Amino acid sequence: MHCRDCQYDLSGLGAGPCPECGRRFDPGDPASFVTERGFEHHRRQVWIGVAAAVLLAAMAIWFRTTSGFGLSYLLVVTGVPGLLAFFGGIPLLRRPLSPRLVACSMIPAILLVGAWYTLAIHMYLSLGGWPANIGNAGFSSALNIHVEIAQHCFWLPSLILFVTWPIAVVVFAVVRRWRAGIHYLGIVAIVWALAFGLTQLGPDGFLYWWWD
Ligand SMILES: [Zn+2]
Repeated sequence: MHCRDCQYDLSGLGAGPCPECGRRFDPGDPASFVTERGFEHHRRQVWIGVAAAVLLAAMAIWFRTTSGFGLSYLLVVTGVPGLLAFFGGIPLLRRPLSPRLVACSMIPAILLVGAWYTLAIHMYLSLGGWPANIGNAGFSSALNIHVEIAQHCFWLPSLILFVTWPIAVVVFAVVRRWRAGIHYLGIVAIVWALAFGLTQLGPDGFLYWWWD
């Protein structure tokens, strides 16, 4: 038997306020407390975090040998704070994750991967192959607009996250009600790093054009 709000162990206590946070509970009313089973999502998140850490480490090591130090460094500076927030936030989760908040946490990453791969497909279909030269020579106006959108989806969320992410961590840490938000910020950063790594799995011809 644990407090619904703060997880305080209420075993052996009679009905009344939680000694930790004051939320009222009654051992006779199962709706007023959570049982051990209510925290299964904590264990699941630990495994998801371990899987993400292994995947990020593999990508970072692989990029070191294929794409140079810059990309693996970017994965480390995004992934490590993300993993710290993810694991640090697990004990702060008072209820199962909200699918809506998880989906929102993935928006920057989905924009990045979506814009990147739709541009690759658009370019291939429009030019009948990968550009032979760097630059936009021979691109249709629609393709030029798509290039512009993809570049914004690539760099703009990075810049916004770079500034707002650390501020959000501090705010969520200070405001007691929002502490579980730290776990979601971890998801934002981890998924963003994975999405960035995912773009590097694109075709070589497109990668070459993009980075020049
Ligand atoms: Zn409590």
